[in-house]
Amino acid sequence: MGWTWMLKPAGRLNRSWKSLNWTFQAPFKAERVDAGRRAPPAIGCFFSSIYVDGLRALSARFLFSRPPIMQTPAFLDRDRPDVPDLVVPGGITPFFLQGRPVRGRLIRLGVLADVLLTRHDHPAPVTRLAGKALTVVAALASALKFQGSFSLQIKGDGPVPLLVADCTDTGALRFYARTDEDALNALLAETPNPTDRDLLGNGYLALTVDQGPDTDRHQGIVDIAGDDLAAMASHYFATSEQHACWIYLSCKMTDAGWRAGGLVLERIAGEGGSHVVGDEDGDASWETATILATTLTSRELLDDSLPPADLLYRLFHEEDLQIGHPRALAYGCRCSRARLADVLQGFPDDDLDHMAQDDGQIVMTCEFCNIDFRFPRKDISSHAG
Ligand SMILES: [Zn+2]
Repeated sequence: MGWTWMLKPAGRLNRSWKSLNWTFQAPFKAERVDAGRRAPPAIGCFFSSIYVDGLRALSARFLFSRPPIMQTPAFLDRDRPDVPDLVVPGGITPFFLQGRPVRGRLIRLGVLADVLLTRHDHPAPVTRLAGKALTVVAALASALKFQGSFSLQIKGDGPVPLLVADCTDTGALRFYARTDEDALNALLAETPNPTDRDLLGNGYLALTVDQGPDTDRHQGIVDIAGDDLAAMASHYFATSEQHACWIYLSCKMTDAGWRAGGLVLERIAGEGGSHVVGDEDGDASWETATILATTLTSRELLDDSLPPADLLYRLFHEEDLQIGHPRALAYGCRCSRARLADVLQGFPDDDLDHMAQDDGQIVMTCEFCNIDFRFPRKDISSHAG
């Protein structure tokens, strides 16, 4: 499973750590991996390494000496924070065009977009970018055939230097965006509606499939290319997956709150229909499908009152549209007091003492949920040797 915790020091420790200029080390910075190649296991878990000058030993222990723990099902986990158990039953609608090399997915986060996005106090352009990132991972995770998760990480030199979104095979979604406040304010003063590229700058986009502890993680990395996230994701597919992909993403504040969604078309090798078409026919079918898809408007996509099947029928009714079983999306953080307490017990007493604030509390923050967990130092006994 992917490692998804970040330790955010608070209070007294916060100031001293800040002065040490700590940063999160994304896997693709540790070692660049050729697109499509399997990532070496040494890269470690997703979103993992916290590198702090002078505290590297501590962070390494934090990462790699953690004993395996049993996964508690969410419904049994009484230590979960007060976050919504929200499920959107028809969040993903898969479809294909019979007899044509085209399959696709319509993604609608519905009210889940508002719930996830409003846990963070970002300016609207960053929220829109995050909503689109959630849509991308929801679309890609819905293609997983095994238990696992799909994560998107973008690391750049812009005002949003790090964006992470992930989704499990069961549709559990979450995201985190780190912002550089000064750079972001300067950009927004200059351009109230910056592009995704303006926010992210130059850097890398990594997509990682993690299908469980006994499987290799598959990671593809490409440069950030294009002005918006849809173009960046399309570029990833063209470069890394080597098949044509058409992606439209939208995230907006509506009368009902934030909404996010997308339409993804993939060109496949004939499996989509009852017969395999020739290349020329395939080219024409693909072109027709993408032209029809471009008529989709953001208003239609984000309109809760328009059923997904009706929307797809509007777009593709002349192309022998076949709609598959819808899949659910859900609020997807797996944080709990029990898991964080387990992490803390992996630190030696000295480190735990340093983490404790003046009031004797150790504060750990789930950056996905934006929730602080407070542990009295006296209640945490170190299991580290
Ligand atoms: Zn959480």
